Amino acid sequence: MTMDAWVVARPGPMASHPLERVRLPVPEPGPGEVLVEVEACAVCRTDLHLAEGDLPPRKPRTVPGHEVVGRVAGHGPGTSLPLGTRVGVAWLRSTCGRCRYCLGGAENLCPLSTYTGWDADGGYAGYLTAPEDYVHPLPQGPSAEKLAPLLCAGIIGYRALLRSDLPPGGRLGVYGFGASAHLTAQLAVAQGATVHVMTRSARARELALRLGATSATGAAEPPPEPLDAAILFAPVGELVPVALEALDRGGTLAVAGIHLSDIPALNYRRHLFQERTLRSVTANTRADARAYLELAAEHPPEVTTVAYPFEAADVALADLTADRVEGAAVLLP
Ligand SMILES: [Zn+2]
Ligand SMILES: [Zn+2]
Repeated sequence: MTMDAWVVARPGPMASHPLERVRLPVPEPGPGEVLVEVEACAVCRTDLHLAEGDLPPRKPRTVPGHEVVGRVAGHGPGTSLPLGTRVGVAWLRSTCGRCRYCLGGAENLCPLSTYTGWDADGGYAGYLTAPEDYVHPLPQGPSAEKLAPLLCAGIIGYRALLRSDLPPGGRLGVYGFGASAHLTAQLAVAQGATVHVMTRSARARELALRLGATSATGAAEPPPEPLDAAILFAPVGELVPVALEALDRGGTLAVAGIHLSDIPALNYRRHLFQERTLRSVTANTRADARAYLELAAEHPPEVTTVAYPFEAADVALADLTADRVEGAAVLLP
């Protein structure tokens, strides 16, 4: 049996067409793995970093995609999820389970962790395999298109919000307003925060205000009040000093992305003194994923999506590079 898939054939700028559409055999699930038939796969900026070569490939001709909603369609040895179970396949694909990070509740830092659509083929395909212990059961009701962006944009944004140490009722700055930011901002607003959004896209600013942000201004403009916490979603290192300077005393800036352009020189007094903190966010634990997916099931966020037919994965990524996507791009087979 074969399936349609996209592979990263020649990492490089989107204009050089790094992706190639191919026919591949449907993969065989190995021990502990299930076969998942893809209902939808959201497009993450990390896919773009992989396609463009910012994220070095870990195997040749990888199938990208790690925000997969699908149904269990086959079993490897030792698995038991019933056929047809709706599951999400996210970025974290496996960890060693034995190192001090895994044993200490920080499996996202496991040095032997592997990732969907990077170490192993992902969801820009008809099917993929995933370890049963790392897939997430999903509700039956919502459409696959609206669920898919929760699996990375939602989960990573949730972890970034935790890492930003936003106090209850605090003032949060959100830099960049793509898929992850628009979900995270809604979560923060629902929890009683005042949210200020800084982004270069005028349409994204409109969306931010509609979703409950108190203000929305240009990417490098100062927010109308000092911030208790900020999250940098845009992969733009120049915004690090900008965001640090916008923090109040004791504030924290969390950088949400896996890739960031270089950070310009920081000035200790302007950017860090008064106990301001700069932190990264690295992937997520399964506990983060479960906690966020439960929150999202109780209080479903408004998920702004742009659907692309499966054949247009390269168009979706090119649109993401050019800031033409409002919310999350989602591939539908
Ligand atoms: Zn480990
Ligand atoms: Zn992602």
